[in-house]
Formats: sequence, C-alpha cells, structure tokens
Amino acid sequence: MNKCRLCEEFYDKYPLEKSGYERGEVHKLEHSFMGAIQCAFEHIGINKEFESDNWNCQTVNLIRDICYEGQELPPGIKYTYCSDQKYAIIKIDEIEKVNGDALWVSWYKQRGRTDAIWILDSYKHPRKPTEKELLSTINYYKEKDNERP
Ligand SMILES: [Zn+2]
Repeated sequence: MNKCRLCEEFYDKYPLEKSGYERGEVHKLEHSFMGAIQCAFEHIGINKEFESDNWNCQTVNLIRDICYEGQELPPGIKYTYCSDQKYAIIKIDEIEKVNGDALWVSWYKQRGRTDAIWILDSYKHPRKPTEKELLSTINYYKEKDNERP
C-alpha cells in the first residue's frame, strides 16, 4: 500500500506496535500512544487523489493546521462551523503548481478524519486534490507565515 510521503516518514519513525489492549495496533510516541493513522492517499495508482477514508493523515493534518479554529488565520483563509461540523475555505489561486481558486475542507469536531477536501474553480466541477497539490498549498502558506512581521 502506498502512503503519502509524510505518512511514510511517520510510520518509519513510529511503527505500529501491539497495544496490549483492545485497540489493536498503535503508534508508540515519546510520551503516549496513538491509534493507527490511515493515509488519505493510501491506494495504488499514479493519480493518488484525496480519500475521505482517512485518519490523521500527516499531509492532511498540515492542511488542517493552516485553517484551524482558535488561531489568527492568515489572509485568504476563512473558517466557519455548523454545530460540530467545521469548514474552511483556503484561497489557492496564487499558487503556481495548483490549478484552482480555493480548497474547501470539512471535518467533525477534532476528529482525525477529514471528511472532504475539494478544489473549487470557476470552470470545472469540484475535484479532489492530490498529495502534491496539498503540499504546494502547505508550503505556500508556510512561506507567507514566515513573511509576517
Ligand atoms: Zn498521508
């Protein structure tokens, strides 16, 4: 099974181990345990697109970090919610390697699963992003954050 690069690195650093409890296998972190992560790009093929069957995918978690509630969001990011369902819109129209206007992200409470990520633009139906497109978005906002005074 393929995983995104960041999930591969996570599995190398924190391989799955038997937990001894009913939870099955877990990642043993420095001071705690964590349920097995499931990559959002965990399937075979070159056009690896986002899968809603995921849990704490390390690439998707970095997207969530960009738009998470409870922080001062950079320009270009809007966050909202409807009871416990959370939504964010991330502007991506200035990112060279990504073709689209915005990323639409949705998740529930603080759960590890990210329900949906869509790329929106004015010409096509919403489509699922690839790992590459999410990494470009993460890098773009990381650079922007570094430019802040
Ligand atoms: Zn992943």
